[in-house]
Amino acid sequence: MYIGRFAPSPTGPLHFGSLIAAVGSYLEARVQQGQWLVRIEDLDPPREQTGAAALILNTLNAYGFEWDGEVLYQSKRYAFYEYFLDQLRSRDLIYPCTCSRKEILDSALVGIEGAVYPGTCRNGPSHPYRTHYAWRVRTTADATTFDDAIQGFQSQQLLREIGDFVLKRADGLYAYQLAVVADDADQQISHVVRGADLLTSTPRQIYLQQLLQLPTPNYAHLPVVINQRGEKLSKQALATPLNPANAVSDLWHALSFLGQQPPANLATTDLQTLWSWAHQHWQLDAVPKRKAIPLSTAA
Ligand SMILES: [Zn+2]
Repeated sequence: MYIGRFAPSPTGPLHFGSLIAAVGSYLEARVQQGQWLVRIEDLDPPREQTGAAALILNTLNAYGFEWDGEVLYQSKRYAFYEYFLDQLRSRDLIYPCTCSRKEILDSALVGIEGAVYPGTCRNGPSHPYRTHYAWRVRTTADATTFDDAIQGFQSQQLLREIGDFVLKRADGLYAYQLAVVADDADQQISHVVRGADLLTSTPRQIYLQQLLQLPTPNYAHLPVVINQRGEKLSKQALATPLNPANAVSDLWHALSFLGQQPPANLATTDLQTLWSWAHQHWQLDAVPKRKAIPLSTAA
C-alpha cells in the first residue's frame, strides 16, 4: 500500500516552491493508487504565522488537491515525540547538552550544514548545573546510505558531516528530525516525495529510524525552485503567495518545472481538465535529476 504525504510548515502562505512539492507528492501517490496525507509541521511557534495553517489548507483545496483522512498537527503530538525520546534515553543513545550556542560555534568543526557539534557533552554535561539543556543523539562514523528515486545513491557519514544532532531543544521544542520520523512511522508513510532541500536531512531520519527500529520509507527528492541569485524560494524570502485565481497557470508551470511537458493549450484550461491530464500523464521518471532549477528556466 502506497501512502504519501505533504508536510508544510505554517510559517506563511504557500508559494510556487511549496506547490512543486505538493504536486509531485500528490500525483505520485495518485498514480500509484495510494493515499496522500497532509501534515502541518507546526513545531516551532515563534516562527509560525497566525492563520497560516488554515490558509495553506484553503489554498490546497482551491488548487484542487484532495487529501485523505484528517490533517495531522505536530503541535498536538508532543507526548508522542517524548515517547520516542524516552526510548532513546533508556538506551543511552541520547545525552543532555548544556553548551551555549557560542561555546559550540567556538569549538565547532565545519560540516555540510555549517557547525558540527564537537561532542563536548558526550560523556557528561559541560555545565552540570545548567537547567536548560538540549538532547542530542549520538551519531557514528558509519555511512548512512539510501537510493533516492530521483537523485540516485546518497551516502553521508553523520559523525563527521553533521555531528550529534539535537532532538529536543533547550527551549523544550522538539526538533524536526525527531517529529518527522515519529510521524512518518505512525502514519505508515511508505513513500516520501519532497524537495531536495531536505536531501541532506534524510540520512539523519534514516539513522533515527534504524535506532528506533522503524521502517524506512522510499525517498524521492524533487528539484527545488531557486531565484536568480541561487537562493531557495522560501516564505522567509517573501516568495509570492499562491493566488487561487492563478491556479491553472501555476499548476501548469509546476508540471512543466517537474518535466511533465503539459500541452500549451492546457495553460488556460479549467482545473479539472488540467488535473485529469496530469493524472493520466504523470511520470516520476520525467522529473529532472537536479537538486535546484532557477525559476526563469521553469516559468
Ligand atoms: Zn554540549
